[in-house]
Amino acid sequence: MSLMNKAIVATLPLVPKPLVRHFANRYIAGDKLEDAVRVANALNKRGICATIDVLGEEVDDRGEALAAVEDYKSVLAAIDAEKLDSNISLKPTMFGLKIDKGFCRENIGAICAEAKRYDNFVRIDMEDSSCTQDTLDLYYSLREEYGNVGTVIQSYLRRSLADCVGLAAAKANLRLCKGIYVEPREIAFKDKAVINANFGLLLDVLLGGGCYVGIATHDEKMVWEGSRAVHKFGLKRDQYEFQMLLGVDAKLRDVIVAQGHKLRVYVPFGTAWYPYSTRRLKENPHLAGQTFRNIFAKYEFE
Ligand SMILES: Cc1cc2nc3c(=O)[nH]c(=O)nc-3n(C[C@H](O)[C@H](O)[C@H](O)COP(=O)(O)OP(=O)(O)OC[C@H]3O[C@@H](n4cnc5c(N)ncnc54)[C@H](O)[C@@H]3O)c2cc1C
Repeated sequence: MSLMNKAIVATLPLVPKPLVRHFANRYIAGDKLEDAVRVANALNKRGICATIDVLGEEVDDRGEALAAVEDYKSVLAAIDAEKLDSNISLKPTMFGLKIDKGFCRENIGAICAEAKRYDNFVRIDMEDSSCTQDTLDLYYSLREEYGNVGTVIQSYLRRSLADCVGLAAAKANLRLCKGIYVEPREIAFKDKAVINANFGLLLDVLLGGGCYVGIATHDEKMVWEGSRAVHKFGLKRDQYEFQMLLGVDAKLRDVIVAQGHKLRVYVPFGTAWYPYSTRRLKENPHLAGQTFRNIFAKYEFE
């Protein structure tokens, strides 16, 4: 990472929110449900399915968590009404995981029940390591009751191999990604080569064990790992999928689709866009730096 880009990442918290929003726009469908519907519809027309996410996390107010349940019910109704090829993704801390685990389970359970009514599916995103065990517990318990639910495994976590052995035995539906949160070395691998090697290993454990896996990455090497594992286990198109984030590497998307794989794009929307956007910008400081340079270049000439 260049010094300039490092400095931009370090100073992100000081950047005025409208400016952050300016260069985070590419990662978000918009503020409203209709924006997510429009984006998911456009993706569907290009043979790509979606997973719609209402932005929001770390909720510490019960009323806000209950409001989030209603927001997701509206998303499920819109997916059904517009006949979108889309499921939903949600974050447990938006539903009160940090307030009360039972309350959180009730809230996500209500969404799973509603999704089941529409024959849809709920993906429980994985947040930082303080949530890992609770999220897996939630997943196992909700799956037993509703069935239509999956969660996420992060290849940077040292515990993930042991988790995957259990999840493979349960034939879980999982998304595998590298992991985005900043974790201490005792908990997460720090070396990119090890995180990547673990991604390949976990794919073998999960796909070899008969799990449905969403291979979530924009890294060509990990896309190759996915294709390798699909070939190794002789999987059919409906036994796995690739997943990417909105706003990242549209060219790679086209390559994956042209190769005949199923691809799903994560489509976040809503007004609580700030934490999601800053994580994305830290992932890609080059983009943040480029946008800064463009903005200031523009001001120089105006
Ligand atoms: C569908 C989906 C769902 C996810 N869900 C979770 C989750 O629940 N929990 C979690 O911890 N993490 C989640 N992530 C994020 C994930 O953990 C990684 O942080 C992220 O995908 C970057 O890793 P990568 O595999 O793309 O590889 P990297 O090596 O980080 O990136 C590979 C290349 O992709 C491009 N790229 C990556 N990120 C960006 C960006 N923001 N902007 C522009 N270009 C970029 C760059 O060209 C980079 O060189 C998800 C990712 C995806 C695709």
